[in-house]
Amino acid sequence: MIRFNDILDKIYSYFPDADTSLVEKAYVYSAKVHAGQKRLSGAPYLTHPVAVAYILAELRLDNASIAAGLLHDTVEDTLATIEEVEEIFGKDVAQIVDGVTKLSKIQFHSKIYKQAENIRKMILAMSKDIRVLLVKLADRLHNMRTLEYQREDRRIKIARETMDIYAPLAGRLGIDKIKVELEDLAFRYLYPQEYQDLCKKVEDRLGERKAYVEEVKGLIAKKMAEFGISCNVTGRPKHLYGIFRKMHSRDVSLDQIYDLIAFRILVKTPKECYEALGIVHSLWKQVPGRFKDYISLPKTNMYQSLHTTVIGPYGERMEIQIRTEEMDKVANEGIAAHWLYKEGKIITREQAHQFDWLHQLMEWQRELEDPREFLESVKMDLFPDEVYVFTPRGEVKEFPRGATPIDFAYAIHSDVGHHCSGARINGQMVPLKQELKNGDVVEIITSEQHVPSRDWLKFVKTSRARARIRQWIRTREREKSLVLGKELCIREFKRHRLNFNELMKTKGPEIARIFSFKTPKDMLLAVGYGKISPSHIVRKMIRLEQPEGAESSEKTEIKAQSHGDVKGEKGILIHGLGDVMIHLGRCCSPIPDDEVIGYITKGRGVTIHREDCINVRNLDPERQVEVTWDPVEGATYPVKIRVISADQKGMLAAVSNAISAEEANILKARVSITPDYNAIFNFTIEVKDRKHLSKVLSNVRRIEGIIHVSRLFS
Ligand code: MN
Repeated sequence: MIRFNDILDKIYSYFPDADTSLVEKAYVYSAKVHAGQKRLSGAPYLTHPVAVAYILAELRLDNASIAAGLLHDTVEDTLATIEEVEEIFGKDVAQIVDGVTKLSKIQFHSKIYKQAENIRKMILAMSKDIRVLLVKLADRLHNMRTLEYQREDRRIKIARETMDIYAPLAGRLGIDKIKVELEDLAFRYLYPQEYQDLCKKVEDRLGERKAYVEEVKGLIAKKMAEFGISCNVTGRPKHLYGIFRKMHSRDVSLDQIYDLIAFRILVKTPKECYEALGIVHSLWKQVPGRFKDYISLPKTNMYQSLHTTVIGPYGERMEIQIRTEEMDKVANEGIAAHWLYKEGKIITREQAHQFDWLHQLMEWQRELEDPREFLESVKMDLFPDEVYVFTPRGEVKEFPRGATPIDFAYAIHSDVGHHCSGARINGQMVPLKQELKNGDVVEIITSEQHVPSRDWLKFVKTSRARARIRQWIRTREREKSLVLGKELCIREFKRHRLNFNELMKTKGPEIARIFSFKTPKDMLLAVGYGKISPSHIVRKMIRLEQPEGAESSEKTEIKAQSHGDVKGEKGILIHGLGDVMIHLGRCCSPIPDDEVIGYITKGRGVTIHREDCINVRNLDPERQVEVTWDPVEGATYPVKIRVISADQKGMLAAVSNAISAEEANILKARVSITPDYNAIFNFTIEVKDRKHLSKVLSNVRRIEGIIHVSRLFS
C-alpha cells in the first residue's frame, strides 16, 4: 500500500528543492473529508486518492496535479464543495478537481466501442487543461488495479470503457506505461479465460527462453562495446494484450508469434542509434519490410525509436528497438516526459508539429520559457472548434462550436429537423437557438404541424442544416409560386372568357414552347415568379385560337373564386388564392380594419398594403388581388405613431405608460426635440386592430402637455 510519505519521496527524488506544502495540505484535507469512508475492498477510502497522487508523482507532474489527485473525489463523494477547494487550494487545483468531477459524471452507454473515437474526443474537449485528463487517467488506473472488488457487471463495464476509451487516450498522450497497464488489466476482465491461458503459456515460454534472452543481450552488448558504443540492453516480453491482439489480427497461435520478446537498446545520441542499427544488421539478417524509422518521422504522440526485426542466432525472428534514453522516457511518459520535469527545456517547433492534434497547445508553449510555467498557467481548449453531445440513447454526435438544437435535429434526420418544434437539454426545455455544450444530452421535440423558419438560417452552424432549410424554403416557394402563377392565368383567361383548364390541356405545351419553357408547369411557375405576365400567355393563346388575330377586348369583373378562400398566416384572407406567403407592407403598416389590397410580388408571395398607401399607385394593377382581414386570435400588428408634446420632464415615461396601460407593446421609440422646444416621439407599437389603436391614441391624448397624437402612414 502506498503511504503519503512515498509521494513526498517521489517528488524529492526528481525535484529535491520542491515546496510540497500544497500537496501536504491537500493530504490533510482529503483525509479529513474522506474520514470514515471505505473502498469496496474494505480499505479506508483515503488509500485511493493517495494511490492516484502517487501515480501522478511517478509521472513527475507538478504540485497542483498531485494535490488535485489527492482531492479528486472530494467534491463528488464528500460534503466538500468546489468553492471550498478553491478557497483553500486556489483556482488552479480547483479547476482540475472540477474537470475530473465533470468527467466522472458522464454516463457512457454500453457498446461504446462503436463511437469510441467521438467519446475520446469529447473527453479531450472537456478536459481543457491537459492535467484534468492526466488525473483522470491515474484515477482510472488505480480503479482498474482494484477492479476485483467491483460487482461482476460493473467490472465488465469499467473494463470495456478502459479498453475503448482510456487506454487509447493514454496512448494518444504517449504515456505508454499507463496505456500498457490499462490494456492488460482490461484484457484480464474482458477475456478472463484467454488472459489466464496466455499468461501461463507466455510464462512457460519465457522460462525456456531465459538463457536465450541472456545470450542475445550479451552478444549485442559485446558487439556494441567493440565499436565503442556504451549502451543498455534489455529483453522484455511484450505486454500480454499486445500479443493477444497480434494473435487475433493475424489469426495465428502463440507458437507462430516469434517476437514475444522485444529487445531494446538504449544509447546516448540519435547518431549512435543509427550506428547501433548498422551493428545489429551486421550481426543478424534483417527481415525485409520490418524496419521503421520513427526517429526521423516520429509518431504523432512524439514517440521516437528505430524498430527492426532480424533472424536471430537460432533462426528465430527477434524485434529490436533502438533509441536514446531520452526517447525512452518519452515513450513511457509521453506528454509528461516533455513538459514536466525537464525544466528549462522546450520542445522544438518541428517536434511540436508532430503532435497535430495538440498543435494549438504547442503554439502556446512556444512562447513560454519554462514548461512548468506553461503547464501551470495554460487553460486551453483541446478542441476549440468542436462540441460533443449525446442523443437520448447515448450516442455521441460531433458538432461545430456554437451549434444549436436545430443542427442536432437535422443531424438526426431531415424530417426531425423540418418538424422540430422544441428541444430539451439535460431534461430542461431550451430555446432552439441555445448553443450546445460538451456532454449535453439533447432531445428534440417534433410536431407534424411545425415547419422550418427562415429565422433558423440566422443561427444554425452546420452546412447540413442550412442546406436542408434552404431546400425546404425553396420547395415551398416554388409550390406557392406555382399556385400563384396558375391563379393569375386563370383570372386572365376568365377576363377573356377563355377556359383555362381546357386550353392548357390542348394548347399548353405549344404555348410553353413558344415562350421557351420545357413544360406548361414551368411556364406557370415563371408567371408566379413574375418573370412573364399572364396577359402575354393569353394573347398568344388567342392568336393560336383565332389566327386572324381578333383579340377580345372585353373585360369582366371577376368575382368567382375557384379555390375558395384560405386563411393566411397573418390573419388575411386572399380571395381565390390558395395558401400563399403573406407580408405586411412595411411602408404603410396595415392593421386589421384598414382598407387593404394585396399585391402579388415576384416570388415572395403577397404583400398587403393599405389602399391609400402611396406605393400602391405604382403597382402593376394586374398583380393586385382582393384581400380582407380575418384576424387571428392573439395576433398583433406593428404600427407607427407620432406624439408631439411640450418638452417637459417625465414625458417619455408618461407616454410609454399610457401606451402600455392599453396593453400595447412598444417595439421602438425615438425622441427628438424641435427648435421651439417641443418633443417629438416616434413609436412603433403593436396593436390588435384599429379599435385597439384608437384606444391607445386617446389614452395618450389625455396626458397633460400633449400637443398632437397621430398614426403615421409611412
Ligand atoms: Mn477516484
